[in-house]
Amino acid sequence: MGLSQHQREFTLNVSKLIQFAFSKGIELTFGEAYRTREQQLLYVQSGKSKTMNSNHLRRLAVDFNFFKNGNLTYKFEDIKEIGDYWESLHPKNRWGGDWNKNDIKDGFIDTPHFEMNI
Ligand SMILES: [Zn+2]
Repeated sequence: MGLSQHQREFTLNVSKLIQFAFSKGIELTFGEAYRTREQQLLYVQSGKSKTMNSNHLRRLAVDFNFFKNGNLTYKFEDIKEIGDYWESLHPKNRWGGDWNKNDIKDGFIDTPHFEMNI
């Protein structure tokens, strides 16, 4: 399967994620999806990111903002159900709140981030 096909599958799964989140009372707004190399370089230089190998560069990642009862939240506990759903949609899907898929809050936590890691 080529990159473009993966990108389309990723986008379709994001639509399911959005529907699921709203159905669970977590409303979403978009953060970043596609990111240019120039933007990624700025993030690496400023310490916001540690890698130039981000799936945002491949159109295979998206960041969301979450609203629970109208209040902005990025708490692991608030988002975990959505992260688990994301990982159930495709074996290559990863949630930034649980990079290693161990269901435990540990290591580097990036709850807004959902990606397909092909
Ligand atoms: Zn991200």
